[in-house]
Amino acid sequence: MIPVRVLVTGGAGFLGVHLCRRLHATGRFVYCLDDLSNSRRDRLGDLHARERFVFLEQDVREPITVEVDEIYNLACPASPVHYQREPVRTLRTNGEGALRVLELGQRVGARVLQASTSEVYGDPEVHPQPESYRGSVSCTGPRACYDEGKRAAEALFSDYARRHDVEVRIARIFNTYGPGMAFNDGRVVSNFVLQALRGEPLTLYGDGTQTRSFCYVDDLIDGLVALMTHPREREPVNLGNPTEATMRELADLVRGLTGSVSRIVAAPLPVDDPTRRRPDIRRAEELLDWRPRVSLEEGLRRTMDDFRARLTGGEAS
Ligand code: UDP
Repeated sequence: MIPVRVLVTGGAGFLGVHLCRRLHATGRFVYCLDDLSNSRRDRLGDLHARERFVFLEQDVREPITVEVDEIYNLACPASPVHYQREPVRTLRTNGEGALRVLELGQRVGARVLQASTSEVYGDPEVHPQPESYRGSVSCTGPRACYDEGKRAAEALFSDYARRHDVEVRIARIFNTYGPGMAFNDGRVVSNFVLQALRGEPLTLYGDGTQTRSFCYVDDLIDGLVALMTHPREREPVNLGNPTEATMRELADLVRGLTGSVSRIVAAPLPVDDPTRRRPDIRRAEELLDWRPRVSLEEGLRRTMDDFRARLTGGEAS
């Protein structure tokens, strides 16, 4: 049987590596595209040596020529620290990258899934956030390059579906964590876990009452594949874990699980940091029969085991 051919842009990033592994393990031919601006080639490990796996070192904004059946568009840094480093590039990656993958999808007849984000809801006034909520986004703040870039990409995907008959899927991904996160990712779970394991103070931004809802990576990948496989749904679908925690609760949980004696130190709250965030996942449950299975505690344990092993192995960043 001829394998389904899949392109994953941003395939060497945190989610990308997990997705490439899953797709490859389930028999697909995987083209992984990444410019390595925010990742490393060796994160794909043994995949490089496998059949049915091709790595393309290229920027998603350059023309893409592969013949594929499905495209997952993950190319863009997702951590605030990283996407704010080169904001103009972030906006361009989101807009021009979306165009490139949609043009390719149109040319080769591939279905295209956009990795959108809970950031399209900004600092939400509606809680939890359903897909029908239009968001409260600053279009001039430091997060705008990412938020507005992702919103523009959703607009492009919707227009290509309406006007150019491209089969699109849009996943709004909420905070996701797990093994394989880069040590220098800059996001809260990787920061806290690394700090706790190293016995360093945990950096709690603001007063720690802001909330997030964390999804374990394997659950998220299940959701992405289920959405891609859905026969027709082209409206956005939230994917995330609805269990909500304050950042102070998260810090306490990480300290408890690691048995760390690290202190918690206050650090400034970033500008436009959303106050609370939790997905309403009823659409995903109904459409995809999907819901997260791994609890925060269990997911954090697995993440800690991975970080501990990598630290012991001498990984520095
Ligand atoms: N945060 C924190 N300490 C850190 C990193 C992040 O308290 O070392 C907070 C941050 O202010 C935000 C939340 O944790 O309220 C999640 O931040 P992250 O950068 O992980 O992702 P975001 O959801 O903001 O994109």
